[in-house]
Amino acid sequence: MTATVLLENVYKLYNNVPVVNDLSFNIEAGEIFALLGPNGAGKSTTIRMLTTLTKPSQGRMEVAGYDVVRQPMLAKRNIGVVLQQISVDGDLSVWENMELHGRLHHIANPERQRLINQWLEYVELVDRRDSLVKTLSGGMKRRLQIARALLHQPQILFLDEPTVGLDPQTRRRLWEIIRDLNKQGMTMLLTTHYMDEVEFLCDAFGSAKPGRIGIMDAGKLISLGTLKQLRSVHGEGLVTKQLSVTEPGNDSSRGWEYLFFPTLEEANNYLNQQPNKTGMMVRPSNLEDIFVELTGRQLN
Ligand code: ADP
Repeated sequence: MTATVLLENVYKLYNNVPVVNDLSFNIEAGEIFALLGPNGAGKSTTIRMLTTLTKPSQGRMEVAGYDVVRQPMLAKRNIGVVLQQISVDGDLSVWENMELHGRLHHIANPERQRLINQWLEYVELVDRRDSLVKTLSGGMKRRLQIARALLHQPQILFLDEPTVGLDPQTRRRLWEIIRDLNKQGMTMLLTTHYMDEVEFLCDAFGSAKPGRIGIMDAGKLISLGTLKQLRSVHGEGLVTKQLSVTEPGNDSSRGWEYLFFPTLEEANNYLNQQPNKTGMMVRPSNLEDIFVELTGRQLN
């Protein structure tokens, strides 16, 4: 497998402060990769650099084999981008938005019409093709953004916080679309601060090729791997203990002590040995536990 997204010692400084700080990772062709982190971690800045919207201060970045800084046009031709802000034109119809994008990418007719129909069908917006975009729901606008991003048949799709601000049903529908696209072979990088999003998209219920998760905090990549790998590194079993206000060591804001164990069985054994089990519980660790353990902070 070849790396199709590559970052090597990438920095982005604003006012001399690094908001992306020595970031390095690769994404393989066909892989789904989630950058997870709290607000301000540097996720959007990373996507903006990879999609040529802002230049890195230092470091090397490639998409689809093209250097993002030196070959931005070639890089752009091979990527689709869905940004956090709704970037479709509300005063144009669904079809007009697609048509405009197709023309900007010099896709000739009849191929352009074929692709517009194909992708509008895929995101189930064919019956709204003549509606003005400003009359669509948030979820429909997001689906239109995805259809538009796919129109020029990119190799890699970048999604910045794709489900932020959407209701649970709409989020789930988008997850299905994202997962299906990945199953069809689309390489994807998405950013999110939602645990459930990452668990759904990257775990894929024990699929043969689960996605990888990069946990970012304060501009740095602090952990990288599949959910299974992260749980195996940090511990699959967890004992949680509620700390009383007066207890020494209760210096964390969460009010809980987390003890990781390699397996759930070992966590259970530990609990069984405790003379006083008040406020203690055993459960399998999850991504949020790992994040809190790594950063000492809650994600949301
Ligand atoms: P995330 O997507 O993880 O929430 P961002 O990449 O949006 O994080 O932001 C990372 C940091 O960079 C934040 O502290 C943000 O305020 C800062 N930042 C982002 N864009 C700019 C900009 N254009 N000028 C100055 N600071 C910026």
